[in-house]
Amino acid sequence: MMKLRILHIEDNVDDQVVLRRALEKTGFSFELEIQGNGVDGMRSLSSKEYDLILVDFRLPDSTGLQILDGLRRENIKTPVIFVTGQGDVRTAREALKGGALDYILKSEINAQRLTSVIREYVYKIHIPEGVPPEFTSSLSTIFKANFVILVKLGGKAELYPSPGFTFDDSLKNLEKLVEANILAKKPIRSIVTCPQCTSYEYETIIKCKECGDGLFQRGESPMQFQRSQGVYQWFKCSNGHISSQPAVSYKCSRCGAEFDLVNGKMATLYSYSLTSSGLDALNFGSTS
Ligand SMILES: [Zn+2]
Ligand SMILES: [Zn+2]
Repeated sequence: MMKLRILHIEDNVDDQVVLRRALEKTGFSFELEIQGNGVDGMRSLSSKEYDLILVDFRLPDSTGLQILDGLRRENIKTPVIFVTGQGDVRTAREALKGGALDYILKSEINAQRLTSVIREYVYKIHIPEGVPPEFTSSLSTIFKANFVILVKLGGKAELYPSPGFTFDDSLKNLEKLVEANILAKKPIRSIVTCPQCTSYEYETIIKCKECGDGLFQRGESPMQFQRSQGVYQWFKCSNGHISSQPAVSYKCSRCGAEFDLVNGKMATLYSYSLTSSGLDALNFGSTS
């Protein structure tokens, strides 16, 4: 498991201890370094790499904003989270526009708040842009109980277990995560999809081969006869044409296009599972 390398710049010893204890309770595995002022903090930052910087907004020799400026000058891209007192909330909020990831109130430092801040940071680093955080959270819940997500086809295509988005959106997000090597996909089988829009969802249409009529009588007694091998089903269209096998085609439920097995587009169904870097991304450094 990866360890989260955290630099905490904070002069108040009590606050240093409170943060360390809260971090310990998150279950993330981490390496914490503490510096007591801005100058020492910047010195650490220019000589070592960290994953996350937690900065007290009011330091004896500088402010959180000055630290942000310093990082920009040194071209250090490590995400910064401000730790502020109640009085600095407005300034801290302004600083979010300047590139800080988030801010935490000193009175709010607890494992739960830190977990959500750290998780957001981890998602930001690992999850491709455009994949909603709710989708990623939902996946991390799913993968705690399941090894794979399957595409299931019934009358309707769906994902099982479902990440709670529409089928199309879920599939798009899953594909982005495959590109980012968070998920791996494995082919399950080939299916026919709509040649216009590649939808998996369509209804089956049965038509008379001779006249194209779609109103069938089927399985009705005059058209059925018994043989010793079994029952043969016959179809009779409303124009009276009889055949044992009508033409089968499909009507796309999404775009309405009609197609058959010949011009339908073949696609492969996949199952999706977590890669080892995906495991880190969704559950970064977690010991649980
Ligand atoms: Zn007919
Ligand atoms: Zn279609």
